[in-house]
Amino acid sequence: MRRSPAFFVRCAEVVPSPCCSESLSVIGSRSRKLVHATGEKSELVIRRLRCIGCRKIHHELPDCIVPYKRYESACVENVITLEPSEVDVAADHSTLFRWRSWFCSLAAYLLGCLESIAIRFHLEVVEESSAPSQTAHHSRFGRYVGDAYGWLSRVVRPIANSNLWVHTRSAFLSEAP
Ligand SMILES: [Zn+2]
Repeated sequence: MRRSPAFFVRCAEVVPSPCCSESLSVIGSRSRKLVHATGEKSELVIRRLRCIGCRKIHHELPDCIVPYKRYESACVENVITLEPSEVDVAADHSTLFRWRSWFCSLAAYLLGCLESIAIRFHLEVVEESSAPSQTAHHSRFGRYVGDAYGWLSRVVRPIANSNLWVHTRSAFLSEAP
């Protein structure tokens, strides 16, 4: 399979450390594979950062990544948002099914995280409509992050940056110092 050259990830914004809200110093990098909708793979070089407060190590989280998912976040978003017949991602059915059930089981937790982040940072949230609630899980995220393309990474980033991202097996993106 053809592989594109590695490219470096640089986040423009300065994010305080998720553990202590201190500065982060760059201590190195590691590479990470990313799979695109076509099945093509590329390699990202992600910076390793150390909190100057507690020396915990974190990894930069680019927009294109959902933590612990090998496929880029646009693919995961498509699978969650679209009808199965509309999805055009080169992954087998069991993978697509796993993403949908992963998101369904996590949706309530993620909504709770966004709610608490919105309260903590005094963010404006669109009022919930009084119309009968839609069944699709993703539609409930619209009031926090809008429903335009890229909504999944807008959900993921603040949650990961607040150290609230959980994994079904291990805990965080962060490592012990
Ligand atoms: Zn810290």
